[in-house]
Amino acid sequence: MTQATETSWSAQAHEASLARQRAWVEVNTGAISANARSLKRCIGNGTELMAVVKADGYGHGSISVARAALAGGASQCGVATLSEGIELRRAGIEAPILVLGNLTQVEELRSCLHWQLMPTISGMREALLCQNLASGQGRPMALQLKLDTGMARLGADWQEGPRLVAAITELEAVQLAGLYSHLASADASADADDGLTDQQQRLFETVLQALEHQRLPAGIRHLANSAGTLRSPALHYDLVRVGLALYGHSPAAHLASVTPLQGAMTLHARVSLIREAGSGVGVSYGHRFRTSRPSRLAVVGIGYADGVPRQLSNQLEVLFAGQRLPQVGAITMDQLVLDATDCPGLEVGSVVTLLGQEGSEQITPTDWSDRCQTIPWEILCGFKHRLPRLTAAQAAWEAPGDRAH
Ligand SMILES: *Cc1c(COP(=O)(O)O)cnc(C)c1O
Repeated sequence: MTQATETSWSAQAHEASLARQRAWVEVNTGAISANARSLKRCIGNGTELMAVVKADGYGHGSISVARAALAGGASQCGVATLSEGIELRRAGIEAPILVLGNLTQVEELRSCLHWQLMPTISGMREALLCQNLASGQGRPMALQLKLDTGMARLGADWQEGPRLVAAITELEAVQLAGLYSHLASADASADADDGLTDQQQRLFETVLQALEHQRLPAGIRHLANSAGTLRSPALHYDLVRVGLALYGHSPAAHLASVTPLQGAMTLHARVSLIREAGSGVGVSYGHRFRTSRPSRLAVVGIGYADGVPRQLSNQLEVLFAGQRLPQVGAITMDQLVLDATDCPGLEVGSVVTLLGQEGSEQITPTDWSDRCQTIPWEILCGFKHRLPRLTAAQAAWEAPGDRAH
């Protein structure tokens, strides 16, 4: 690249950074810390809190979320992939990190050793690879063994548990730091899950009792995700692995009042155009909405490429100045349209809230997921990198006037 083009590129970048954002996610790290404290109170001193920060911290930004959760009392982090773990280490996070996904390649396990990330193993093959990598290193490589008790995803069959623990304990370059399993339907109410959670816990207990009998240490024992954590103290064991609740959302309505949680994400977008339309005007692709009166339509710069599900077309609402405005017509890749006929205060440059709280009104990821037959987890991690993640202070600069409501 020539000097001249480089200059013009950086000038452009500078210009772009001075312009106001069209849409952004505001992350309240104070809420993350408060949720971690609340969860810590709920689990008590004998149980550790693992902050699950996979998928870029459920869309909130993994590094800031991990720091906030650790400040609030979490003592470990959970990630899904090797690169997610490395990202936290590069940011200077020193807490134990467990990789929840399955790493099968020697190179991946070598990276775990290098970055001090604990891999999850589901069998002897990976344990032996770790033994080979770590032998002669002077300190053992920590890993955790996962057992399947009724999810049929990762993990060795639970019946294999005692034999595997015994074999891993024999490997002098490997340290079995933990033994865990994962619940398949802890968010269902106790009578709606056909006893599955109880059954999974019984199988996990069976393994733990066998190990105790044989005096085999298994490191920390854990079973609960957010739903398991909120469902029953009997599922807490030595550690709980919490994702959704850390971000302020309950995995099910009947678990919402167990411990106070505060949504950490607010989604904002800016009005880019106001259009006066007559009655009978078709709006957006396919004219899935037609005005029934002379209308004031507002075009907002956010769409499904940012993570607003297209299935919410004609079902979404946004908040502005404490008022709910309906979204109309098909949600498009980069834009959507509001019916602002009853909201004369909405102008070009106004900032609307798609998710979050404004005064007494609130729109949650669960409101969205209920309307488009998915789950709040998918809504949160659906927000794309095109949406900048801003702190509360940065967001205040984006919408100085609107902060008042
Ligand atoms: C993602 C994940 C969690 C966290 O689940 P939430 O329901 O978001 O709390 C816990 N454990 C494992 C193994 C996971 O993959």
